[in-house]
Amino acid sequence: MSNVVSYELLNNIGLITVNNPPVNALSHAVREGIQNALLQAQDDDSDAVLLVCAGRTFIAGADITEFGKPPRSPWLPEVLATIENSKKLVVAAIHGTALGGGFETALACHYRCALSSAKVGLPEVKLGLLPGAGGTQRVPRIAGVKAALDMMTSGNPVAASIASDMGLIDEILDTDDLQAGALEYVRDLVDSGAPLKRIRDINIDPSSIEPGFFENYRKQLARKARGQIAPDRIVSCVEAAVTMPMDKGLERERELFSELVQSPESAAMRHVFFAEREAARIKDVSRDTPVRVLNSVAIIGGGTMGGGIAMCFANAGIPVRLLEINDEALQRGIGIIRKNYSITVKKGKLSEDQVQNRLELITGTTDYSDLSDVDLVIEAVFENPEIKKEVFARLDEVCKPGCILATNTSYQNVDDIAAATSRPEDVCGMHFFSPANVMKLLEVVRGEKTSKDVLATVMKLGKKIGKVCVLSKVCYGFIGNRMLSGYGREAQMLLMDGCTPAQVDSALEKFGMAMGVIAMSDLAGLDVGYKARKARNDLPEDPKGYIIADTLVEMGRLGQKSGAGFYKYDPSTRARSTDPEVEALIRTKAGELGIDQQDFSDEEIIQRCFYPLVNEGALILEEGIAQRPGDIDVVYVYGYAFPAAKGGPMFWADQVGLQKIYEKICEFRDRYGEEYWKPAPLLEKLAGEGRTFAEWARDNS
Ligand code: NAD
Repeated sequence: MSNVVSYELLNNIGLITVNNPPVNALSHAVREGIQNALLQAQDDDSDAVLLVCAGRTFIAGADITEFGKPPRSPWLPEVLATIENSKKLVVAAIHGTALGGGFETALACHYRCALSSAKVGLPEVKLGLLPGAGGTQRVPRIAGVKAALDMMTSGNPVAASIASDMGLIDEILDTDDLQAGALEYVRDLVDSGAPLKRIRDINIDPSSIEPGFFENYRKQLARKARGQIAPDRIVSCVEAAVTMPMDKGLERERELFSELVQSPESAAMRHVFFAEREAARIKDVSRDTPVRVLNSVAIIGGGTMGGGIAMCFANAGIPVRLLEINDEALQRGIGIIRKNYSITVKKGKLSEDQVQNRLELITGTTDYSDLSDVDLVIEAVFENPEIKKEVFARLDEVCKPGCILATNTSYQNVDDIAAATSRPEDVCGMHFFSPANVMKLLEVVRGEKTSKDVLATVMKLGKKIGKVCVLSKVCYGFIGNRMLSGYGREAQMLLMDGCTPAQVDSALEKFGMAMGVIAMSDLAGLDVGYKARKARNDLPEDPKGYIIADTLVEMGRLGQKSGAGFYKYDPSTRARSTDPEVEALIRTKAGELGIDQQDFSDEEIIQRCFYPLVNEGALILEEGIAQRPGDIDVVYVYGYAFPAAKGGPMFWADQVGLQKIYEKICEFRDRYGEEYWKPAPLLEKLAGEGRTFAEWARDNS
């Protein structure tokens, strides 16, 4: 038949088997193979047709290598029409994950059975797309409008049992033998004279939809859209499923799908998808580098970060030893972990038993000798270089040879920390983001002497605990925090120059940031930056970037935790509101510094806040701190909530145009001074050549 799809007759059931490892993606060969097998089945002795997949999963989606290429016939909707119009019963047997086009293929079949461990989903929205092969028309016809919208606008897969309750799966097979169970199910359907059930024949009664339902659903989505348009278009498709006949609905789906494929939002989200995969690859560390065995982990310091990091490992089933200075600190740390887990139980995300199992994996100690047999240690003590060096010297004494020694430092020099040991090749940075058990980003920091197998091991481990890993070399703040400083500074400067906190945050939130940077500093606590500034004596004396924040701290306004910072906070809802007192304070301080305040457009606010990210990003690339611009984008999307629909700062910069950005930075330099605005040589060069960061990356890969 074809080398990825086979067809045979088994007891008068036509068995189509897709075998396209690793995930049975819907490549052209798979589509053609299914189409031909179905056509053959129409005229042979089969009573019915069963579609199964070999290997670890049902068809898990489109073939991403065909993305962006012109579709080749038969394209998926044609194959699905052949399935749906088959004169013989077609049944899909699902195991693993039936995702995207894979699940749409199953939906075109007349019946669906699944192993209880299977999952189904339509994740297209995560790439800024919508299910474009009938998913938006078929799911609401069986699952109902609300459930269909929830499934498609979140993109999250659902377990077989839930899919069965939703009507998306007809039969859960009570066996682990997929083929045998499914053949038996098909035989039963044939013997009982089951009808050809075509989802397209179901009509949704428009009067069953509450008036205003779609409008309200759109409003809810808009609140968290962050620049994405796909969720809104999915609603339009489902509206079509209610108001139009199937074929018209499919046309509408196709039209909106084409719009999304060409949209900058989807291009950006697809960029992030590929960049995330690319980031896992270290240029000079081959894929077959042997990795070290990691069966147990120790964390030093059970504070905000240490506790969260311990949870990451316990969640992945890896035993953790948590070391604190004394019993009191240890109990406090473990208490916070318990409290965090109990919140997860309250939200219904974990059961009491699951939490108990995880807590049992975390054991506390105050004695370094308990760390003699662990495979990895992650240090998360106070951000103080001397304490960190002492801890590493101690670890060097007690840890077994080959144990990886990592630091979670945000700013300290990993090479200096490594030099406190006799084994700098075993030392690296593992920079988690707060809250560590939630945030997906992990910056893996490569010291001067870090060995390749340590890096390969840590990247692999990061993936195992559900993180997106990005490699950074050593510099102050690594990739993410180093870039952040200009962003934060400009937001503060904008206040001095005439914006209110609400204007700055609103421009950033309209751009798609989850939270504006000023509100963010209130959330983090204004005292954090205040203390850090007081602890450093190497900062230039320039009050414009922090005078307001420092004055607020000295007034006792520490941010959300004290009920007021740049904004006032409602004690019960934590909703923020502007505070005329702060606005007056800003005007007074600006007057004292002789600043002539002006009005700013949203566009200027965005340029002032984000061009520093781009400029610093260019320096980071030139210095080789980040391997590629896509890595920087991944850091910002996963670590700093930069909108995925903008693709990350470097992708966004390419869309805006590097020449425009360069010229604006030069203008800012002339207006505000070279100490703040100095175009990076790489930016200047690319702007002059009319090239992009992406093109530069291709030439340097
Ligand atoms: P924290 O103050 O909440 O916790 C530090 C913990 O370390 C405390 O519980 C303290 O008792 C313990 N400790 C101090 N000295 C110790 C020692 N010698 N041995 C054992 N335990 C010791 O601090 P945090 O916010 O968790 O930060 C820890 C590290 O993580 C810092 O290097 C920080 O820069 C980094 N980091 C913090 C964040 C964040 O957002 N908080 C994010 C990323 C990285």
